[in-house]
Amino acid sequence: MMQTILEPARRLNVRQSCDVLVAGGGTAGVAAALAAARNGAKTILIEQLPLPSGTMANGGIVANSFYSTYTPICPVPKRIVRGIAKEIEDRVIEAGGSPGGIAIDPTTSHYRRPYLFINDPEMYKAVIGQMLLEAGVTVYLHTFLSDVLKDDQGKPYGVIIESKSGREAILATCFVDCTGDGDLAAHAGAQTKLFYQEYNVKPLASIGKMFGIGNVDLERFVPFAQQRGMITQAIRGKNFAGEDAYVRVVVNFLLDPVCEKFAQQMGFRSVTFFSIHKDTVDFVNGIGRQNVNILNLDEFSAIELDMQRIACEFVRYVRQNFPGFEHAFVKSTANQIGVRASRVVVTDFVPSIEQITASTRFDDEIGVYGHSDYMPVDPQSVMRNQGLYGLPYRMLLPVGLDRVFVAGRMVSTNLRSHMSTRNTVGCMVQGQAAGTAAALVAKNGYTSRQLPYALLRSALEAGGVYFEPRS
Ligand SMILES: Cc1cc2nc3c(=O)[nH]c(=O)nc-3n(C[C@H](O)[C@H](O)[C@H](O)COP(=O)(O)OP(=O)(O)OC[C@H]3O[C@@H](n4cnc5c(N)ncnc54)[C@H](O)[C@@H]3O)c2cc1C
Repeated sequence: MMQTILEPARRLNVRQSCDVLVAGGGTAGVAAALAAARNGAKTILIEQLPLPSGTMANGGIVANSFYSTYTPICPVPKRIVRGIAKEIEDRVIEAGGSPGGIAIDPTTSHYRRPYLFINDPEMYKAVIGQMLLEAGVTVYLHTFLSDVLKDDQGKPYGVIIESKSGREAILATCFVDCTGDGDLAAHAGAQTKLFYQEYNVKPLASIGKMFGIGNVDLERFVPFAQQRGMITQAIRGKNFAGEDAYVRVVVNFLLDPVCEKFAQQMGFRSVTFFSIHKDTVDFVNGIGRQNVNILNLDEFSAIELDMQRIACEFVRYVRQNFPGFEHAFVKSTANQIGVRASRVVVTDFVPSIEQITASTRFDDEIGVYGHSDYMPVDPQSVMRNQGLYGLPYRMLLPVGLDRVFVAGRMVSTNLRSHMSTRNTVGCMVQGQAAGTAAALVAKNGYTSRQLPYALLRSALEAGGVYFEPRS
């Protein structure tokens, strides 16, 4: 049994009070904080890492991460996500951080998407930082949420944060948990489920390590790997240098008897190279581990150390074995391993995969979405009909809690549905709605469940959210 001690009570500084406290400045949290502030709420965003962005850029995936503002091919691709997701796209392009969407033939795309939106992670971080400042959000970085303060009835009224300034309190009327791991909701008393085991299914692991490789010539590598039968996808487009180049190359190591041994030793099968800058693989996706519980400190620490080793061994292997990689080096590694799922929060409603694929619409929807990561491997997850579905407001409300909202990858207790809702653009739609709702609840004194839908809807529409007309 773990030894325990009694922590002595102590008086804490109250750093600030606010209307809306957003925990976690990741994919969903940035959208939530922007939306809350733009709807008139005094908003504080706390983030444990040095910069906001979350799995998008700190996790290293941003180069090809906008899955997806468009529907897949059913019946024709069309843009269905606007609002803050679209605004971020536009701002990143305007800042020179993206050459824009690369049109691809959706019939050859794994996910049947018509565009890849590729962008530069460092520019992305700079752009969202500016957007948060412009909106008037108070951003506390290097700040970890460690507990929730509750009154005698168990209602949250503040959070405890830890930073270089010490242990302090922030008081708030509403709370939006965008920590990805449900930290705030769990401390507030939400029902939660440890979800990482659900990802012990092919093709995904519960965590993934992203890294970039410099000094690469894909023009020489791809024909070589094609000859060996290892390439399952090679998409060309314009890179940042304006050149026609390979931007997305999927390499299945198991299809080559020599590489297979290395891949099995390292515990991966297929990797995707994303290349947006000349002579660079900006990030490698596909190297990860199954069954990792990052809520366990021993496991989390051990996996970070191990994945850094594996990233470096991978680059050494390709340097020694593949033409085009002879002078390659590890250009970057993500600030932290990427987590697909850890703890998810039980909310009032979770759309089922049948509702998702059948284009189900809801009376309380906060936007529409149409991507599923399971489409290439799971016939049950292929989007049908219009290729979009409604995201209901109820999915943001943790069962039994008031004035606490959740958004992002910690929402959805069903694996097949999670494979849709956890994707970046889905997280942004949820984040924008959670921040908007929290601001309206705080401003008007409603409970989360009393918030009139018409009010929420018109605020979301004013924020640019697209609502596909219902037939
Ligand atoms: C390896 C990998 C590849 C992926 N590839 C794609 C892809 O190509 N396209 C796509 O659309 N999706 C992809 N995804 C999924 C998608 O990126 C994530 O599901 C999504 O970004 C999660 O957003 P989020 O806001 O829920 O969490 P995150 O973006 O992870 O944000 C959570 C934030 O909360 C902070 N935080 C956590 N706990 C605390 C705390 N206690 N106190 C303060 N701050 C805290 C974190 O530092 C982080 O910034 C991928 C995921 C992984 C892991």
